Amino acid sequence: MKWHIFIMTVLMVCSHSLLAQSDKVDMRVILLGTSGPEMSPDRSGYATLIEVGGKKLLFDAGRGVLQRLYESEVDIKKVTTVFLTHLHNDHIEGLASLWITPWFLLGRTEQMKIWGPVGTLKMRDGMRTMYGHDVQNRSDEHNKKESLDLKVIEIENPKENVCPKKGDPISLGQELYKEKDNTPAAHEIKVTAFPVCHADGNPAFGYSITYNNRKVVLSGDTTYSRNVVHHGMNADLIVHNVIATGKDFSHTPEMQIILGKLTTPEQAADVFKEAKPKMAVFSHIVKKGLPGAEGDKEIMKRTQETYKGPLEMGVDRMIIDIGSQVRVIKPKVISDLTDLDFKKHPDK
Ligand SMILES: [Zn+2]
Ligand SMILES: [Zn+2]
Repeated sequence: MKWHIFIMTVLMVCSHSLLAQSDKVDMRVILLGTSGPEMSPDRSGYATLIEVGGKKLLFDAGRGVLQRLYESEVDIKKVTTVFLTHLHNDHIEGLASLWITPWFLLGRTEQMKIWGPVGTLKMRDGMRTMYGHDVQNRSDEHNKKESLDLKVIEIENPKENVCPKKGDPISLGQELYKEKDNTPAAHEIKVTAFPVCHADGNPAFGYSITYNNRKVVLSGDTTYSRNVVHHGMNADLIVHNVIATGKDFSHTPEMQIILGKLTTPEQAADVFKEAKPKMAVFSHIVKKGLPGAEGDKEIMKRTQETYKGPLEMGVDRMIIDIGSQVRVIKPKVISDLTDLDFKKHPDK
């Protein structure tokens, strides 16, 4: 081989591997459902999946979570690790279907494990009672009853003020989960819960997920929170709730209560300006009297009046890949998805 051809080949291989390195995805965040309790034609209940270090970590399980996992072509049997931000119904109402359907329909044998606030044990027991018929009667030699056992670890009630004002101590949070990935470097996957400010939803938590110098922070349901700012400082991604109302709604007494426990676009702008994440994305998008794309636009406009950094309006099945860059991938068309109708397809 002539020298110049050899050098060219080496250069090409090197630049290719450098490119591959810079394209490496350390964490993948899938917004499965981006709504609050509200119903709209294209948003499911709140749920976020984070794929990191070979693990699949699910944060909340709102209405439609199973359907959105299927539509996102995630291996549903492997979604067994769940973290709950709080026990409001819009964060747990998809949990039962995720617990039972993949067990008998798809043959999931791995038991689920759930972290959640005090009250999660009681919720788990209540759910088992509610689905008592299936637990008793669907289990057989093909679908073992013990696979339905569900381990719950309750997060301690916060001792500090969950809505810290200026001068109040910030919560360092509770480290819940620490696992090494199975690469030679053995990077650590760490999940930390920190208290947020959600009135009748308290105790409520936000989450910080770190891996290989990357950080994703989920605000959970909260009004402006200094804890979110602290944990979200320089994060690769902050996924934040937002609430906005149309003119007819904003002054009613009930709406004042609701506005007081979630984050307005202006408050979200303050969080992002202070924390300076590489990317900010809205999910748990609560709109009252601001339907559709116009409502979304209004939220973006109000936020961007003062916050000029990278910002996305979340939509269901949006993917955010985090590596040296943060890349937002719009949901793909799913009209050709194969049915998931049995444990293993007979022709496979
Ligand atoms: Zn909620
Ligand atoms: Zn809530």
